[in-house]
Amino acid sequence: MADAPDHVIWDGVLAHLRSSSPTLCRQWFDEIEPMGISNGVLWLRASTEMQQRYLQTSCASPFRDAAQAATGRLLSVEFIGPGEVPPSPKHNGLDQSSNQTRRVVRREAGDDELVLHPDHGFENFIVGPTNRLSYAAARAVADNPGTVYNPMFIHGGVGLGKTHLLQAICHRYLEEGLEGRILYLSCEAFISRFMDAVQAGNLNEFRRQFRDVGMLVIDDVHFLCKMDSSQEEFFHTFNTLYQSNRQIVLSSDAPPNDIPDLEQRLVSRFNWGLVTQIAPPEYETRVQIVLNKAKLRGFTISEDVAALIAARFDANIRELEGALLRVQVHAHVHSVPITLDVAKDALGVAIAATKPRVSVQVIIERVSDFFGVPVPQLLSRKRTRSVALPRHVGMYLSRQLTMHSLEEIGGYFGGRDHTTVMHGVSVIKDLRERDEDLDAAVREIERGLVAAAE
Ligand code: ADP
Ligand code: MG
Repeated sequence: MADAPDHVIWDGVLAHLRSSSPTLCRQWFDEIEPMGISNGVLWLRASTEMQQRYLQTSCASPFRDAAQAATGRLLSVEFIGPGEVPPSPKHNGLDQSSNQTRRVVRREAGDDELVLHPDHGFENFIVGPTNRLSYAAARAVADNPGTVYNPMFIHGGVGLGKTHLLQAICHRYLEEGLEGRILYLSCEAFISRFMDAVQAGNLNEFRRQFRDVGMLVIDDVHFLCKMDSSQEEFFHTFNTLYQSNRQIVLSSDAPPNDIPDLEQRLVSRFNWGLVTQIAPPEYETRVQIVLNKAKLRGFTISEDVAALIAARFDANIRELEGALLRVQVHAHVHSVPITLDVAKDALGVAIAATKPRVSVQVIIERVSDFFGVPVPQLLSRKRTRSVALPRHVGMYLSRQLTMHSLEEIGGYFGGRDHTTVMHGVSVIKDLRERDEDLDAAVREIERGLVAAAE
């Protein structure tokens, strides 16, 4: 194997990786070019610098293990970027100077700078009604940094794509080769750089680092709230960059006005540009996201598998990805193709999947009978406890016994939005643990529904 041509070795390594680390593999791994083995190193050439950096920082050890397993040799793996060639072997008698060895000088990033994920480009961001504005703003900023919206401020809950959009802006900026360095940091890294500078007494150096920056991207600025002195410094950094028309891009879990303990002058500066929100995606967008994520990982799933995942996981996209991973790993471990049944199995949606389907309509009727609250009232806006509690029970049971998403359930319950349904479900979940009577009532209705459906 060791003397096999590069591509044969590489095919073996890839096959090994696909089985040992299925979740790490991406379709673009096919484009990695094997550059031979020299001095105990398997040289692999990535097709972009971004991919090279990502592979080096995030994939080195699984690649090394796969290389060793596939060749039976104690190899290490090095990734080089496009246009680079591996150094020639030490004693091959060739004139080193005539060799076209060229190590591209890479922009040296600080240790704490975030590595861009190759998946997080605009092309992999699925646009829907709940993120359209943020997406459009991010594109505008990437195309015209420093001019259209400065700062750009994206906020939203966890796992909804803020970091993805920030990275997409960075990707675009680097692709365009725009002037000036891009500095992409987490807020914590900004704070700790600042604290280190304070401790070492070289604040001037700290400030200098930001002066030649073409664009500053800081993720999760809500962490600023705790540190007063870093807020002060952030304020000055902001002003310096803003005054010289450098683009500033920020993300946060809350809009500027709702970040606790954020100084008023920062609140007002964050509001100078464009503030956009990302909300949880609706069903159709979730289906598209799941299909796209599977494709990126180099496998395809049917629409009904994507629909199943999208229907069951609707709080955020990280959850969706987690579910897709579970399905992928389950199919891999059992060496079976990803069918709808395999996916159901993997996700443990046995109740809804194997039991006869209960409809939300029937649940509403049962709940109405049981509590003696007429259906129109259950679906009304009335919030008195005698109506709200049965309504919450109905939402809870719909969540447990049907495959509908939160939005769809909200639709059945008089056009309520998904957060209302989520709230109803969690109220009943909590109450069942504390209130025996309610727990018994829910169980009884559930039993009736399941029995009637069988
Ligand atoms: P946040 O920073 O808001 O917590 P992330 O940007 O880290 O969320 O997103 C979590 C995951 O969801 C990432 O893998 C990201 O690629 C994915 N994701 C989020 N929104 C989308 C979208 N609209 N299209 C495709 N993937 C998305
Ligand atoms: Mg994030």
